[in-house]
Amino acid sequence: MKSSAARVIPAADPPAADTMIPYGRQSISEADIRAVVEVLRSPWLTQGPTAERFEQAITGYCQARHAVAVNSATSALHIACLALGIGPGDTVWTSPVTFVASANCALYCGAAIDFVDIDPLTANVDPDALEEKLFHAHASGQLPRALIAVHLAGLSCDMKSIHQLCRKYDVAIIEDASHAIGAYYDGAPVGSCRYSDITVFSFHPVKIITSGEGGMALSNDAELARKMRLLRSHCITRDEAQMTHEADGPWYYQQIGLGFNYRMTDIQAALGLSQSHRIDEFVAARNALARRYHASLAGTGLSLPVTGLDTPQLRSALHLYVVRIHEDDAEAHRSAFEALRARGIGVNVHYIPVHLQPYFRNMGFGPGDYPNAERYYRQALSLPLYADLTESQQDQVINALHEVFS
Ligand SMILES: *Cc1c(COP(=O)(O)O)cnc(C)c1O
Repeated sequence: MKSSAARVIPAADPPAADTMIPYGRQSISEADIRAVVEVLRSPWLTQGPTAERFEQAITGYCQARHAVAVNSATSALHIACLALGIGPGDTVWTSPVTFVASANCALYCGAAIDFVDIDPLTANVDPDALEEKLFHAHASGQLPRALIAVHLAGLSCDMKSIHQLCRKYDVAIIEDASHAIGAYYDGAPVGSCRYSDITVFSFHPVKIITSGEGGMALSNDAELARKMRLLRSHCITRDEAQMTHEADGPWYYQQIGLGFNYRMTDIQAALGLSQSHRIDEFVAARNALARRYHASLAGTGLSLPVTGLDTPQLRSALHLYVVRIHEDDAEAHRSAFEALRARGIGVNVHYIPVHLQPYFRNMGFGPGDYPNAERYYRQALSLPLYADLTESQQDQVINALHEVFS
């Protein structure tokens, strides 16, 4: 027999991963499971009728004309850039506080990437910084082809100001709304593309709704949508109107450009379509939990996030609830993170500024380039937030925060 003394676990040991309350996770219903099983019993597994129905459900929800379902938001961002004609010699701008995919999509096209610093209050791209940078870029003949506006944590950027500035300098706009399906801005759903050329959603399991992996690109421009549909599947067409010469026979197709296999399977689409019926339910649950955090964390000295009004005028999808520690101090940040993890709270940090990643430092970016983004990084902690988070789990999080920050 083993010695029982070996069973003593010091209090500081991190809890097993399965007892940790994660920062985000999916919510899968029996209806979701039935929808996926139904497709498995059908003749279509790859992109087919269910992917089309999923696209229609999302255009209906978002009040947009066209949608192209793909296998990830990363793929959607890539084909969005290509459809806009972005290539070598072009520059794309985005926020340094985002997932790397918002920047990588430009690099896939052979374009250069640059960043616009954030507004410290919302952590979204700062329209004043954008205005100044556009002014100087115009003066030196180095305007970007496109801006990728990231709706961090699910709160829309100031799209009216961004749209006005980008129109003035003829810069295209892609909304990276990976966090923001179900959000509203200026009385319209994010995804309506009222202030952009293309909007992209992610259906990764930590996002608002999931298809396992998946993404979608929305646009009101039929030509952009046509190009993205081609790019999704090798730029192969069976449409004679798009062919360079008459079909050889009924089997005939043509490859008219260089595309990819970015298709979403009908298995994924079935899950996404089923989940899409609960967008409002999920976002309402996230908003209710955020209000509880707000009310309970007032005494901690933490800065609480700007989360919109939870009205159709301005509603955040609340993908993330990001608090900021009081000190601007990397050491205090790390020890707060560790203290919360030791208490079973799966806090996370969104995001390591993209320009500080080694791959981007090799392009010449470095510390000091975007001071607001870098300060944000030294202070931000994402608390657990997802539709199925129970109030008693949330109370554990709140108690731990009071312990660590009192
Ligand atoms: C998750 C995410 C992506 C990438 O989404 P995938 O579907 O995983 O490719 C892109 N941008 C942002 C802001 C994200 O959070």
